[in-house]
Amino acid sequence: MSIRFILVATRHPGNIGAAARAMKTMGQAELWLVAPAAFPSAEASALASGADDLLARARVVGTLAEAVADCGLVLGTSARLRSEYYWPVLTPREAAPRLLAARASAPAALVFGTERTGLSNADFDLCHGLVHIAAHPDYESLNLAQAVQILAYELYCATGGEARRPRRGAPLAPVAELQRLRTHAGEVLAEIRFADRRAGPHLLRRLARIFGRAELDQHEVNILRGVLTAVQARRRRAGSPP
Ligand code: SAH
Repeated sequence: MSIRFILVATRHPGNIGAAARAMKTMGQAELWLVAPAAFPSAEASALASGADDLLARARVVGTLAEAVADCGLVLGTSARLRSEYYWPVLTPREAAPRLLAARASAPAALVFGTERTGLSNADFDLCHGLVHIAAHPDYESLNLAQAVQILAYELYCATGGEARRPRRGAPLAPVAELQRLRTHAGEVLAEIRFADRRAGPHLLRRLARIFGRAELDQHEVNILRGVLTAVQARRRRAGSPP
């Protein structure tokens, strides 16, 4: 679900482009710019790379009040934890599900400040809460587009994006096949009189644990069984007692 990303008074057009790219990599598409110093700009397009469609669709307005007029939940972001007024402070991970829940009934927004000074108190008057990205106390001020990236990433994770994993090519071998592999390995170890003194009587169990951790598929079990069969065949051909 799309959250409105509002950049207030951005000085460097490169940051606008980099923010658009950060958003697109996380499936966010709604970029609003409040009184940007320079936009459109070649520098913004260059840093947006494949996300220039977000720049083309970006809404440019004169004030933050216009950008949030129709919004329900609005969260401001800040590198500083303001102490003058009590203010609920959220981590990006806490903010993401709240924004998504609020988005179900009305547009929801994240607001990012200008590079040097961040959001003003007047800007925060239009917000419901503050999101702070934890950073080292010596220097807590992230680059604007990197702050956008972290918030967009948390939104992506909160919508289940993180759970996407490459699928296995083949299903895991059934347990009965692993048992046959273990038995076969035991036979070959006995035939070649292999005994590792440190592993002792648990050698076979240890091997079975290795096979288990490897999460073998049927094809891989067949390869290992083939190796074991080849060892036995060669010994027979060489005339060793079975
Ligand atoms: N001194 C300013 C830093 C501005 S950095 C301040 O106090 O906020 C430009 C913007 O990047 C900030 O307005 C905020 O939107 C975002 N940002 C940078 N570091 C951040 C952090 N640690 N947590 C949350 N937002 C951050």
